[in-house]
Amino acid sequence: ATEAKIVVSGKMGVGKSALVVRYLTKRFIWEYDPTLESTYRHQITIEDDVMNMEILDTAGQLGEDSTNQWEGHVRWGDGFLLVYSVDDRESFENIAQLKNFLDDIKKPRNVSMVMMANKTDLERERVVSTDEGEKLAQTLACAYYEGSALLGDGVIGEAFEELCREVRRR
Ligand code: GDP
Ligand code: MG
Repeated sequence: ATEAKIVVSGKMGVGKSALVVRYLTKRFIWEYDPTLESTYRHQITIEDDVMNMEILDTAGQLGEDSTNQWEGHVRWGDGFLLVYSVDDRESFENIAQLKNFLDDIKKPRNVSMVMMANKTDLERERVVSTDEGEKLAQTLACAYYEGSALLGDGVIGEAFEELCREVRRR
């Protein structure tokens, strides 16, 4: 079996907890305590290899006094799901910062990461286009997915599993 420690990060309110809960339980939870940080275990099989995932749903914000805690998360993690919300430009701009932070701490090791744009159901509130998301993912050399924890499409599982695949390749 292969271990994959997955850290889910991104600005508060982008739907990290909703995505994790959706992935693990196929349910959507409207209100999830934003201060609650939890770790979940999950097992998947990739090409006959059992992957034991530990998924850390973070709650702190980068740039606050939680930076030290964040640094601990980065050291702990093998793979990072960087989440933003299509209705929140600041959360999108946060992604490049997160990536810089990851590189600073993890170097010279390469970082496994996947970008996930959430809340695509909010079409009228959308301020970050698919095109912008794809371009940033290209710049950061990572896979890009977009979807909605509310609608719960298969994309969410794909994003988590792609991240596991990348961890496994290293
Ligand atoms: P976190 O702080 O990143 O963990 O964000 P939460 O998972 O707590 O979600 C923050 C808010 O966004 C909550 O009110 C959720 O109901 C809402 N939310 C999460 N995902 C979606 C989504 O895909 N669509 C919509 N419309 N709302 C969402
Ligand atoms: Mg949360």
